[in-house]
Amino acid sequence: MTELLYLHDSYLKEFDAAVAAVSSETVTLDRTAFYPGGGGQPSDAGQLRWPGAQARVVETKRDGSSVWYHLEGPAPSEGQLVHGILDWDRRFAIMRHHSALHVLVGAVYRLFGALVTGGAIYPDRARMDFSLEDLSKDRVGAIETEANRVIGENRRILVRFVSREEFERSDLTRLARNLLPPEIQEVRVIEIEGFDAQADGGTHVANTSQIGKLVVTKTENKGKTNRRLEIALTAG
Ligand SMILES: [Zn+2]
Repeated sequence: MTELLYLHDSYLKEFDAAVAAVSSETVTLDRTAFYPGGGGQPSDAGQLRWPGAQARVVETKRDGSSVWYHLEGPAPSEGQLVHGILDWDRRFAIMRHHSALHVLVGAVYRLFGALVTGGAIYPDRARMDFSLEDLSKDRVGAIETEANRVIGENRRILVRFVSREEFERSDLTRLARNLLPPEIQEVRVIEIEGFDAQADGGTHVANTSQIGKLVVTKTENKGKTNRRLEIALTAG
């Protein structure tokens, strides 16, 4: 079982861990700051270093309660203590876009009551699909204005955990279909203070001031009641 350090500290760039198991070019560690992918957020890349050697982490993947590292280069042996280093520029860019999507989702929900049907995050852009029929130019303009208003308020972005019962009684999902697995007893919530809170397993910036300015770069019709918004960020 891998301890998921990023759930509590999204800003962890380096960490020490022990190799728990090795299988051809993949290893699993007892703890990880690398995000293993999921919820539209891609997995992290970076390096593992240990005395006398290092390997490139190309991808990380979750398998049950373990996170596996796909390596390029030599593989450390079981029990080896390693130092993990994330490609921080890429991860931070992904965090900015992930947080931007939450602001976008909150804005679309507040303005039009629309829920999310899918999405994807990249280091240089992100997109979200909404259950929405009308996405006129005026509406896109209103969404962009509202999102940038919230970003400009320098709101804190907080991580908290709630019980499954509290989650089910609350309004903490913006997904059209709620896919919470039955074994989950504690739900992680990302809260943009005073604006929006959503169940989420990804990594986020600590304050909306780190997002920059949001621009809607593209809209797409993905079906009768499905609209896609693509966004990009400028440095502010
Ligand atoms: Zn999210």
